[in-house]
Amino acid sequence: MLQTTVKTYQNYINGEWVESVNKETFESINPADTNDIVGRFQSSTEEDVIKAIEAASDAFQEWANTSPSKRAQILNKAAAILESKVDQYGEELTREEGKILSGAKGEVQRTAQTLRYYAVEGLSFTGETFPNDDPNMDVFTQREPLGVVSVITPWNFPISIPARKIAPALITGNTVVFKPSSDTPLIAVRLVEALHEAGIPKGVINFVTGSASKVGDALVTHPAIRAVTFTGSTGAGEDIHRKASLTTRTQMELGGKNPLIVMEDADIDHAAQLAVNGGFSLTGQACTGTSRVIVMESVADEFVQKLIEKTQSQTIGNGLNPDTKIGPLANNKQLKNVLNYIEIGKEEGAELVYGGNHLTDSEFSNGYYVEPAIFTNVSPTMRIAKEEIFGPVIAVITVNSYEDAIQIANDVEYGLSASIVTKDIGLAKRFTREIEAGTVKVNRTTTGNLINAPFGGLKKSSTSTFRESGRVGLEFFTQIKTVYIGY
Ligand code: NAD
Repeated sequence: MLQTTVKTYQNYINGEWVESVNKETFESINPADTNDIVGRFQSSTEEDVIKAIEAASDAFQEWANTSPSKRAQILNKAAAILESKVDQYGEELTREEGKILSGAKGEVQRTAQTLRYYAVEGLSFTGETFPNDDPNMDVFTQREPLGVVSVITPWNFPISIPARKIAPALITGNTVVFKPSSDTPLIAVRLVEALHEAGIPKGVINFVTGSASKVGDALVTHPAIRAVTFTGSTGAGEDIHRKASLTTRTQMELGGKNPLIVMEDADIDHAAQLAVNGGFSLTGQACTGTSRVIVMESVADEFVQKLIEKTQSQTIGNGLNPDTKIGPLANNKQLKNVLNYIEIGKEEGAELVYGGNHLTDSEFSNGYYVEPAIFTNVSPTMRIAKEEIFGPVIAVITVNSYEDAIQIANDVEYGLSASIVTKDIGLAKRFTREIEAGTVKVNRTTTGNLINAPFGGLKKSSTSTFRESGRVGLEFFTQIKTVYIGY
């Protein structure tokens, strides 16, 4: 790609776009073509973060006292701004992250829907009243905002994940310091710009870019931070959770190793399609992506054959090309990690029956491309069957009974999403009770979740205290007081 002038984007602190104190920047590059620099962004320091936290702290009381309908109006206006720019922002998101254009545009639209959803849901989010024996006393709970909230997010859904944290934080009266992933800062700028244009008061949302090693600790340990809502890897989440003080709430949405169980009675063609969609869309980089298929032996050969056929038909390429179904991996670290796991799988004795090659010729030469990989003869104790790979790699494990399938499905440290393909409603219901996962599907992909339904994992996939999304997504951002009024 011909490089035109590369724009430098700034932090947003106390209502103004500003440089970082050290004036240093980093580049966000296109994973489909590493010669294409998407933009330059501020390499912030701890000092920048502290300024942002102080601005959020100063703005808190006034925002907490702002009428909920005024807050909702700002969210709705920001949603309209995003909707009016879906084409531009979708293209930018594809350039920055690599995902296919239809997915990128869909994500921008979903972000607008999320802002609108919380603009409505937040207005009726309230406490409870409690009957009591004193006729001259009312007892009720009231919900109040926490204060300053840190929002720390990954690159795989780089505008919709921030929105599902920022919108409920703002509508309930909190102020925010937002740090996006350094792989996808541009689309995060667009979200903040929309809120700015919508008239959000200064200091209510603040935005800093930069490396976690420089800004991460201040975002978690500064005494004014009342809550940290984080989505990312389990390692980073555990680190943040440990560092947070007793008075800082944490909400950690972390990794997964999501199984799809295929029973004998399944429509095998449908099951294979679910595996392809769940395992390879977003180039396998969805936290709820299908990374294990646990299939009954009697249908395993047919399933694997169909899985290979359907995978072969997935066009790999630049996400801006309308034919592309599988884009590049998001960054070089991802590429190395995925190729490394493919080697580990081979060394462990699993059989690589399809793909797994690093693509480097012609159109792929400047991007982070890998063919989707399918392993069979996978034993449940292998690393490729246990560890999160976060790439387009499916490990097929063959079993002879539902009991073995559920035992293997649960025998990992994660519990984010899981699905079963069966026509047996009784078995499906049993699966919903026995599977250790926060999102449970029947005859659907492990990926995908509704804006209006709770989302989160079990075990090492989430802190179990608060869920994101839906109405319960508001709970994390409020505290309860119980009030007794006698008269
Ligand atoms: P990551 O953990 O490397 O980074 C996520 C964010 O946290 C980035 O902004 C990063 O700069 C910041 N960060 C990293 N270490 C930090 C620290 N010690 N203190 C403060 N901030 C820190 O994750 P990633 O590579 O961006 O994303 C991929 C991971 O995210 C995968 O493990 C995936 O499963 C997970 N994920 C989970 C969900 C979910 O809802 N459960 C959704 C999407 C992605």
